[in-house]
Amino acid sequence: MNHLVAGNGTGAHGAEVEVVVVGAGQAGLASAYHLRRAGFEPGRDFVVLDRSPRPGGAWQFRWPTLTYGRVHAMNALPGMELAGADPDRPSSEVVGEYFAAYERAFGLRVRRPVRVRAVREAGDGRLRVETDAGTWTARALINATGTWDRPFVPRVKGQETFAGRQVHTSRYPGPDAFAGERVVVVGGGTSAVQHLLEISRVAAATTWVTRREPVFVEGPFDSGRGRAAVALVEERVRNGLPPRSVVSVTGLPMTEEMRRARDSGVLRRLPMFDRVTPEGVVWDGGRSVAADSIVWATGFRAAIDHLAPLRLREPGGGIRMEGTRVARDPRIHLVGYGPSASTIGAGRAGRAAVRDVRAFLSRAREGGRDAVTARGGAPVRGAAAR
Ligand SMILES: Cc1cc2nc3c(=O)[nH]c(=O)nc-3n(C[C@H](O)[C@H](O)[C@H](O)COP(=O)(O)OP(=O)(O)OC[C@H]3O[C@@H](n4cnc5c(N)ncnc54)[C@H](O)[C@@H]3O)c2cc1C
Repeated sequence: MNHLVAGNGTGAHGAEVEVVVVGAGQAGLASAYHLRRAGFEPGRDFVVLDRSPRPGGAWQFRWPTLTYGRVHAMNALPGMELAGADPDRPSSEVVGEYFAAYERAFGLRVRRPVRVRAVREAGDGRLRVETDAGTWTARALINATGTWDRPFVPRVKGQETFAGRQVHTSRYPGPDAFAGERVVVVGGGTSAVQHLLEISRVAAATTWVTRREPVFVEGPFDSGRGRAAVALVEERVRNGLPPRSVVSVTGLPMTEEMRRARDSGVLRRLPMFDRVTPEGVVWDGGRSVAADSIVWATGFRAAIDHLAPLRLREPGGGIRMEGTRVARDPRIHLVGYGPSASTIGAGRAGRAAVRDVRAFLSRAREGGRDAVTARGGAPVRGAAAR
């Protein structure tokens, strides 16, 4: 079986390429597009590996009531508009179809489902990308694995004793599953608010709990606000700290629907509880709320465990970045990470990463570091050779 059809293949279970792109969401597809434009050929010079079953990145897993009209601001991928989409259709379908068309139009040849398990040193300056469908080696890696695969739930005393249902945003089934229930929603971001607004219409009672006081932002979400939020996250990753999500620093843009919910008391927030009991949640001061379900809208972390063998982390726990490049290892780029974790940021990061990868490969070639040869001793073909 040789479904790894790269031109520089080294055998049934692997292939040599210039660049491996991990993930085919917004960030991975934007990177693949720019690689292609720069002259890298899909399948021969680079591969895109994605663990999900279908096109769409994480959007394919989002709940049906997150319609296209309810997403914040979905930026188009480079080179193809997303125009005329029906705002009432689920965003999972709209974006899935758009990404599928995009992959076809630019011949990106995404391989799926292929899960990258680990990235290691190959020993010759190249990287060894181990997957559940064979091993690739590459001179550079663009990591675009998003956060959906790493849901985050804070630890709270007694959590495991809760007799009801606990569900994270990543498994949110839609509001109907909570009809007639008493529901506690935890989290201060947009997902928490969206869950609350729709669950409160069918539930017996809802309670909103956030760690920090939520910040509602009036007026349009203009580019100035976006830039300020991105700058905050950028500073963190430049200093080797774990990123916060861009959305967490933008505040909650107030909509008409939210204003109504606030007036009716649905958006009255309580501070974080101290314990979970079989019956509900409890605060140290004596307050308690009975619950049938707890919805954890508490965010995600970067899904980068497969990079652990490369030891990219700083003592601060994060990965120090210079733009999209990992400071400790110039072969590795993280796109859709930290400050570029939005559809607009992911697109820009893809372009920046490709520019940098090209320069890196050229320098490596000029510096004579690329003693790497293809089978038969011919120089590896690729954009850097042109
Ligand atoms: C509920 C929700 C709503 C959002 N709404 C908006 C919005 O309205 N506007 C906006 O700009 N942003 C929004 N965001 C943020 C936005 O979704 C992301 O910033 C952007 O779409 C993520 O793109 P990505 O390519 O980085 O990641 P993803 O879309 O998550 O794609 C990553 C891909 O990598 C694959 N992958 C992961 N690990 C591996 C592995 N080990 N091996 C192989 N493949 C792997 C995954 O299967 C996936 O297909 C939202 C996020 C959430 C959670």
